[in-house]
Amino acid sequence: MNSFQFQNPTRILFGKGMLEQLGSSISAYGTNVLLVYGGGSIKATGLYDRILKQLQQIGAAVSELPGVEPNPRVSTVRKGIAICREQKIDFILAVGGGSVIDAAKAIAVGVPYEGDVWDFFMRKAAIQGALPLGSVLTLSATGSEMNGSSVITNWEENLKKAIGSIHAYPKFSILDPELTYTVPANQTVNGIVDTMSHVFEQYFSQTADTPLQERLCESILQTVVENGEKAIHTPDDYAARANLMLSATYALNGGMISVGMQNDWATHMIEHEVSAIYDIAHGEGLAILFPNWMRYVYRERIDRFVQFAVRVWHIDPTGKSEEEIALAGIQATRDYFTKIGAPSRLSDRNIDAKEVGRMAKETVRFGPVGSFKKLHEDDVRSILELSL
Ligand code: NAP
Ligand code: FE
Repeated sequence: MNSFQFQNPTRILFGKGMLEQLGSSISAYGTNVLLVYGGGSIKATGLYDRILKQLQQIGAAVSELPGVEPNPRVSTVRKGIAICREQKIDFILAVGGGSVIDAAKAIAVGVPYEGDVWDFFMRKAAIQGALPLGSVLTLSATGSEMNGSSVITNWEENLKKAIGSIHAYPKFSILDPELTYTVPANQTVNGIVDTMSHVFEQYFSQTADTPLQERLCESILQTVVENGEKAIHTPDDYAARANLMLSATYALNGGMISVGMQNDWATHMIEHEVSAIYDIAHGEGLAILFPNWMRYVYRERIDRFVQFAVRVWHIDPTGKSEEEIALAGIQATRDYFTKIGAPSRLSDRNIDAKEVGRMAKETVRFGPVGSFKKLHEDDVRSILELSL
């Protein structure tokens, strides 16, 4: 195990009825609020009215930034920054899934910066501070509600890049599983795949002697598999939604499950470049790419893939070689994604070989990616070709 520091400053309010705490949670930071949300799901579900009521109760002045896109765009972030400056906003409230929360974080870090917020994503400037933000989560997937990451698309340049900063952690996030009952089946599937992928990025590590962290990872994967299909088939199953929500939040909250371990993140970086050009859902891209990444790298540390197959997918090792067990675990991952309705090939989303070279080159813009196996441009191209 490596030495580490760990800090997560986000307060979580989890469970039925926690929305009632929204007003008092905000008033500690200010009452001039920017409400950030997506394409309208919060209006269709009635959540918007409940939020406004809470804001009225604390006498808040409310400005709005609606229309945050899935795969949120830097153009929308810039609009939010302009509103914050004009209206002298002192608190940003994100109500939605990962896209809305990521956009709110990018606005929050962009407001005190004199240059263009995209500089942070291109690693041209360091984040020095942020407006305070909070979130009401409506979709379990990204962990953005309890981490300092934000992923933003520059559609004009077909780039999708991430930042991470201690300043971007939400001050609080309200996690009421009932707010996810209306998430459609395909987005529930995307959330399941994203949650599992966040665990994979940490679990497949070269760091030795981390049995607790490995079991935390395995426990999240098993919990997601046990509850995923229940939530898809019975959208208002409280226990299933609650277990998926907690799993997603634990899977990516500043690395709590993988402290002292080297992480990978190559597959996420490849997926971002696919989304940047084709605008597919993040979970779809991961479902296509992850089993192919696994096939490409498993020989780098086969014992971890054997453990994954046996402990997570209950593959019977009797009479099988290590190679056979590892490959059976990878196939079980693919089969599960297919069973819940996720795509398995880029061609399922009408993506052909045309931009493979460009996506591979862009993935390694800041240097080789991954640590389980360090991937160069040629490796990334091979994984994309395996995924066609
Ligand atoms: P999302 O893009 O936030 O939302 C997907 C869709 O679900 C939207 O159309 C949204 O509609 C709808 N939706 C959300 N909640 C709903 C509800 N309760 N009922 C009905 N519909 C609902 O999905 P996401 O998977 O959470 O976020 C994906 C983004 O996060 C990607 O850009 C990805 O790269 C990024 N990401 C971030 C991190 C991180 O750590 N920050 C990690 C992984 C991925 P409305 O727009 O109408 O609300
Ligand atoms: Fe993700």
